[in-house]
Amino acid sequence: MDMIQVSNLKKSFGQVDVLKKITFAVQKSEVVAVIGPSGSGKSTMLRSLVDLEHVDGGSVCVQGDYLVKDGTYANSKDIKKVTSKMGMVFQHFNLFPHLTVKENLELAPKYVKKEAAAEISRRSSELLEKVGLSAKADAYPANLSGGQKQRVAIARALMMRPDIILFDEPTSALDPELTGEVLQVMKQLAEEHMTMIVVTHEMGFAREVANKVMFMDNGEILESGTPEQLFTNPQFERTKAFLNRVL
Ligand code: ADP
Ligand code: MG
Repeated sequence: MDMIQVSNLKKSFGQVDVLKKITFAVQKSEVVAVIGPSGSGKSTMLRSLVDLEHVDGGSVCVQGDYLVKDGTYANSKDIKKVTSKMGMVFQHFNLFPHLTVKENLELAPKYVKKEAAAEISRRSSELLEKVGLSAKADAYPANLSGGQKQRVAIARALMMRPDIILFDEPTSALDPELTGEVLQVMKQLAEEHMTMIVVTHEMGFAREVANKVMFMDNGEILESGTPEQLFTNPQFERTKAFLNRVL
């Protein structure tokens, strides 16, 4: 079974068709990189998968459960079931400024109340160690570098034990010297077989870590393939022009 199946996704903002018949599938443990020019609909597509945007048509199915089927949304309980399988990491981290790093990690699991506080605390310590930030457990976001904030955001996403993590330009807001530490954590997740969809301008990461690259332009997936296919043998002039600008 596909981990995620997206078919004919459509979305307009007013007169503008931002997503036009977006169709793709992601398999378990696959890392899919989404590349394309600014304004092509990458964020809207990603946000639609976790119900942060409402689509006008099409389907999103995660491990057999529909978020939306042929434009009709599931009931709120089923929507929650689907969205709880996914974690999201944003360009601007979206940490809670008034909470410490550890509190940022523990907020959502405590709110959901499915696990004992001791277990939540144990896991937050473990995940902070995983992203190399054990020493910052009691720090506030304002006292962290951008790279550290983003590593906290990744650890926070992992707290909910997602089956898939969606990344929306996780390194675009960082100084160049801080992107490496975030990409390294993402690479490690990929090596541990996390299923990931990554919107990125980091072509090196896409080439090295992704199993599949999708090029989005003007609200559609113009082409997709292995990194090798897409980077060395793009089929469309628009893909070639984009790659010439960014490579
Ligand atoms: P990308 O992430 O590829 O840069 P986006 O998904 O952010 O693209 O945006 C795609 C298009 O949708 C752009 O033309 C953008 O201006 C428009 N758009 C995005 N969000 C909104 C919104 N909330 N209201 C109106 N237009 C929007
Ligand atoms: Mg975007």
